[in-house]
Amino acid sequence: ATPTAVMVGTGLGAEHGILIKGGESLEKAYRLTIVVFDKTGTLTRGEPEVTDIVPAEGFTPQNVLQTALSIESLSEHPLAQAIVKRGKAEGLSPLPVENFEALSGLGTRAKIAGRSCLLGNPRLMVQEGMALQGLDRQAADLAGQGKTCVLVAEEGLVIGLIALSDVPRESAGAAIAALKVAGLRVAMITGDNASTGQAIARQLEIDQVLAEVLPGDKAREIRRLQQEGQIVAMVGDGINDAPALTAADIGIAIGAGTDVAIEASDITLMTGDLQAVPRAIRLSFETMKVIR
Ligand code: ADP
Ligand code: MG
Repeated sequence: ATPTAVMVGTGLGAEHGILIKGGESLEKAYRLTIVVFDKTGTLTRGEPEVTDIVPAEGFTPQNVLQTALSIESLSEHPLAQAIVKRGKAEGLSPLPVENFEALSGLGTRAKIAGRSCLLGNPRLMVQEGMALQGLDRQAADLAGQGKTCVLVAEEGLVIGLIALSDVPRESAGAAIAALKVAGLRVAMITGDNASTGQAIARQLEIDQVLAEVLPGDKAREIRRLQQEGQIVAMVGDGINDAPALTAADIGIAIGAGTDVAIEASDITLMTGDLQAVPRAIRLSFETMKVIR
């Protein structure tokens, strides 16, 4: 690539709030076949809200929220913040928690008043041999609506579930449509449940869902796509997206994201407007045409 043309490309990008780190990423963008979006905080706004609290038989919504609020007060996960907000809005305050442990991509574990508590996704409950106490059906229905289900257990017994919904960014649908028109495949990668991921993917007309991917495994999923012969762009926002952004042929960090993600990326979008993704790719096409 001639340095001048690349400079033109990167200069134009800056005008549109697109920061391109080097000419090499422009060349790769030209050969792209698939764009993989992280779900939480990238395709969605990352501001989940509690929509449903379903107690198991013998418990009340308050019981469920009280335990969840107490544990989640110690977690920094976006789901935790939403649960804490709801608990406080209902006038509850957290009980003292001991032995708090974050289980990456799964949930949390802790002791409240000497009782062992566990909170997290269905996968965590299955892993811990926990029966869903008749909540299976409701959990499946809620996930089918694109909601994330957080199960709450005490002393080896599930006491209820909390469903949360995280709305897609307004720009998501148009951005995905533009990428597909450009002949690219569009995928979503998420640590969330497969049915939750698929419901959101259906809404946004996403071609492929990589669900229940633990934070440490996102990079491996990107490399798997590359082994299939794909040239991969990964769009992410969070700290746990950094390895995947690095593994991808082009890492795109969205501006509302963390410094770590921005550092690991080739392209940074300065706002949360996802339409900058097809714009950045189009820009690279145009720049490469000038060069060739
Ligand atoms: P994503 O890949 O969608 O950004 P994460 O990898 O952060 O999501 O988390 C994956 C899943 O792990 C969440 O959807 C949730 O089910 C579960 N999880 C992790 N931490 C917590 C927590 N503190 N409270 C509730 N659920 C959690
Ligand atoms: Mg994220």
